[in-house]
Amino acid sequence: MFGHGLKVLVLDDDDDCFLICETISDIEGGSYEVKTAHTPENGLELIRKNAFHAVLCDYRLGATSGIDFIKLVRGQGYDLPIILLTGMEDSSTDNKALEAGAADFISKSALSSAIVDRAIRYAVANAERQRLLSTVLTSVDAAVCVLDNKRVPILWNPSFAGFAEVQGKFDNDDPISAFASRLLSAEMVHSVGDRTLEKRISNLPDEGLVITLHDVTEHVEALRERERAESRAAHLANHCSLTGLPNRMAFAERIDKEIQRARSNGTEFYLMNLDLNRFKEINDVYGHNVGDQLLKLVSQRFVSCLKEGDYLARLGGDEFVAIQTKNPDKDEIPALALRFSDSVESPFEISGSIVRTGVSVGVASFPSHGADAQALLSNADIAMYRAKTEPKCGVHAYNSKLDQTIRERRLIASELKSAVENESLEVHFQPQACVKTGRISGFESLSRWNHPTFGQISPDVFIPISEDNGLINEIGRSTLQWSCELAMQWPEPVNVSVNISALQIRFTDIVSLVRDTLFQTGLPSSRLELEVTESVLFDDFDYAMHVLRGIRNLGVSLAMDDFGTGYSSLSSIISFPFNKLKIDRSFIMELHKQERLATVTKAIIGLGHNLDLKIIAEGVETIDHVNFLKAQGCDEMQGFLLGKAMPQEKVLEYLKTPVLDLSTHADYVDEKRRAS
Ligand code: C2E
Ligand code: CA
Ligand code: CA
Repeated sequence: MFGHGLKVLVLDDDDDCFLICETISDIEGGSYEVKTAHTPENGLELIRKNAFHAVLCDYRLGATSGIDFIKLVRGQGYDLPIILLTGMEDSSTDNKALEAGAADFISKSALSSAIVDRAIRYAVANAERQRLLSTVLTSVDAAVCVLDNKRVPILWNPSFAGFAEVQGKFDNDDPISAFASRLLSAEMVHSVGDRTLEKRISNLPDEGLVITLHDVTEHVEALRERERAESRAAHLANHCSLTGLPNRMAFAERIDKEIQRARSNGTEFYLMNLDLNRFKEINDVYGHNVGDQLLKLVSQRFVSCLKEGDYLARLGGDEFVAIQTKNPDKDEIPALALRFSDSVESPFEISGSIVRTGVSVGVASFPSHGADAQALLSNADIAMYRAKTEPKCGVHAYNSKLDQTIRERRLIASELKSAVENESLEVHFQPQACVKTGRISGFESLSRWNHPTFGQISPDVFIPISEDNGLINEIGRSTLQWSCELAMQWPEPVNVSVNISALQIRFTDIVSLVRDTLFQTGLPSSRLELEVTESVLFDDFDYAMHVLRGIRNLGVSLAMDDFGTGYSSLSSIISFPFNKLKIDRSFIMELHKQERLATVTKAIIGLGHNLDLKIIAEGVETIDHVNFLKAQGCDEMQGFLLGKAMPQEKVLEYLKTPVLDLSTHADYVDEKRRAS
């Protein structure tokens, strides 16, 4: 039976107490264990000592009331059900009793065993359910609060109370109700203290509501972290890590947008291509760390030049691009370009070194200098190359005349690269002979490039280009190799003269190259001569001296090429370890026209001999030239009269008669010169 073994406390300050106890003991089949108390204090004491299942309490308790008793008991943390017994009281009393937490109330006038039994059993069962519910609520992760249809909180769990307390610091009201009513109008995700909560509200059938709060702090934090990581990654993908400037990818997007905007608004803009001066040298001399530092500092100065709407990106290396809106009828040169140029004029101090650079800026305008990004960029680039060749003004605007020459040069440069890679350059040999005897003394090796579509391209064109883009080292290396190899096949042990660029002397280990080549090809060092122009002496006198001596020490001889065309000729022949002077062909070819040239040539020959140098004259085209040189005691000669540069098969043929009979050779007269 349900009522079996239930412990009940009856609290009443008057004689009704006995009546109630009797009623309980009359309960049919019931076996309630009943204790009685007459004062609230006494009642509380008994509650402390006994595990009552329920309390029956009179509404009137002398000076106090049953409601006060309920508050007292709840205040001590007991949640056992308390049933109030009421007398004359009106319905507002019932409500108050319920609000205070009474489980039920029974009118004394309707007191009966059946009613009391039922009230106790319901209250106990209900309290049991309440306890179960609150255990469930306590164990769930979420904070939960149930509101009745008047939006009064009637049930909540500790976690909800905890948040209410944090929030309550800002409210004076009852924290639970204040928090609940605030939640009703709050955003779905909002924060309380340092936590982020996600709110859900569900409706109950009696128009009550359940508010659940899920703590999503970790989740939101993880999401934010991911967003941050993603935006960092996006920033990295679009920015240069060294300078923080937008990179090539970002620029590609930007220029497309800029073109679209200019097209739809009918506006114009400048595209600037910036390239630092001497950056490669600075990198070579001071090292990459200083180079990187310089790029950073330069970027900072450039950024400080930008005004609203200006754009700057770093494409890589020392190459930057900028965009500035152009006002109609404005100059070809944007103000920003001049600001950039000024900004890097003063030197930079990097790790104790004073580093000077400068910037060359090429400018192209949209739409007049290109309708798409690629055309604009390439024209700005062309203008930039032009700016580089003008040391005074580092800013140059594109114009179409520039285009042609630079484009051709570019084309040749890229074609030359593949020609070198495919080893399609060749060496030809031009004979040299003793003036007195006509005996062949050697051959000068001259590079030849026969381009499949452009035909023969002169070394006067491609050698300077190769010096600009560094291909000269590879060209020089293979020319030396082939020249020595082919000379080894000649039937006469005559000399081979190979031209060496000043850049090879300055930037490569030419001494080792020559030594290795002689070793590999087996050519005796005495048969090799290197031709060098005096420009080799200009940059670093001591270093050049050191290298040239190294070459001489191998037993290889040195000729100073193009003598007479430089500036410091006299001082260079006196100080340098040359064996031979090569009088420039312009002297010999014009001999018959200018008396003065004959005088100078005579002087050079005399001077050279005084310094124990051999003299070879270039550009010998007529028998008159030969006679003049013979009269002056010139040692050797080279020129079209003897023969033009020829391929190896011709050389082998040519060497069959190693002594030339020049009287049988017809004078060479150039078509062009004959016409003039
Ligand atoms: P260079 O060293 O002064 O070579 C002599 C140039 O004068 C050659 O022109 C040759 O064909 C030309 N020449 C020789 N005799 C006469 C003549 O009687 N009349 C006229 N009008 N010209 C004559 P080329 O082969 O066009 O070479 C031009 C320059 O290119 C060379 O001048 C040299 O500075 C450079 N070069 C050629 N091959 C090489 C090379 O393998 N390495 C380097 N570094 N430079 C080279
Ligand atoms: Ca030469
Ligand atoms: Ca020459």
